[in-house]
Amino acid sequence: MKILVTGGAGFVGSHLIEKLLAAGNQVVCLDNFYTGRKENINQFLANSNFSLLEHDVTIPFESSVDQIYNLACPASPINYQKNRIETIKINILGAINCLELSKKLGGIKVLQTSTSEVYGDPDVHPQVESYRGNVNPIGPRACYDEGKRCAETVFFDYHRQSNIPIRVVRIFNTYGPNMSEDDGRVVSNFIVQALNNQDITVYGQGEQTRSFCYVSDLVDGLIKMMETNNWTGPVNLGNPGEFTIKELANKIISLTGSRSKIIYQPLPQDDPRQRKPDISLAKEKLNWQPQVDLEAGLIKTIEYFKKVL
Ligand code: NAD
Ligand code: UDP
Repeated sequence: MKILVTGGAGFVGSHLIEKLLAAGNQVVCLDNFYTGRKENINQFLANSNFSLLEHDVTIPFESSVDQIYNLACPASPINYQKNRIETIKINILGAINCLELSKKLGGIKVLQTSTSEVYGDPDVHPQVESYRGNVNPIGPRACYDEGKRCAETVFFDYHRQSNIPIRVVRIFNTYGPNMSEDDGRVVSNFIVQALNNQDITVYGQGEQTRSFCYVSDLVDGLIKMMETNNWTGPVNLGNPGEFTIKELANKIISLTGSRSKIIYQPLPQDDPRQRKPDISLAKEKLNWQPQVDLEAGLIKTIEYFKKVL
């Protein structure tokens, strides 16, 4: 198959492409390197099944492919808040452009990487797909949260109106090799700080919780969802293990043997207090559940950062 991956030079995209190529597919990576990096895809350039389309997803594009995975969008709060209007455009116009391409090609499958952020600061715990969320529509994170929510709307309306076969996945915090050291997300921040024996910056009291999924598990789930028949989702993909941010900091200090100390910094506005996926649907419909626990995933990620720092 020939598969288009938008955002393929990013953290998740680079792992997805690796797996799709290994399975014998041809892959077209569309990216404008807004947050992605050439280093993440250099390894594929010599592979004749790989091609790079340097392009902005907000501008319509053409490519003769059999499937589309839409990942193009900055994912870290620091990056998606740098230019909030651009984040909204990437989410909405990017979704429309992928779906229009599918329509032109006669209705090929398009998978949207949505996010646990659609649940906002959740009052339902753990989060099930039927929960409609608690998002502040005018807050600093709204460009991403509401952008992703509207992208889901766009996907479902193309499905209803034009019969496009869509797949919608709500990804919970995912980590692993190929994250940028300066991307600002908590796992990469803490590992880089720990390896450099710098202070570990915990925001707030560190009592907020997150569930961390290792990237190989996520990629398996994305491919399973794409391959499933007659089901649009949305489906949660994430690791249901739940940890406070302080627990994460201590785990990373201990696994790296670092001399770093924890310091406390202000909690960003609208930072969700808790997050944990209910993955019953993914288990039932996709026979999917994570295989890599937090400690094993952190060890692999620490090894990666030791090599690149
Ligand atoms: P990332 O920032 O590492 O990668 C995003 C990629 O999209 C980058 O290569 C970037 O250059 C590209 N991109 C951004 N704007 C673009 C544009 N206008 N045109 C073309 N390419 C553009 O993020 P990631 O962690 O790999 O996330 C991938 C997708 O998964 C994103 O859509 C993100 O919202 C979603 N997601 C990720 C997580 C996570 O924890 N990693 C959680 C929830 C959702
Ligand atoms: N966080 C932190 N220190 C950091 C980076 C993040 O304490 O250096 C916290 C952040 O406030 C949030 C959690 O870690 O509560 C996860 O943040 P991240 O930006 O990785 O993703 P989010 O789940 O907020 O989108």
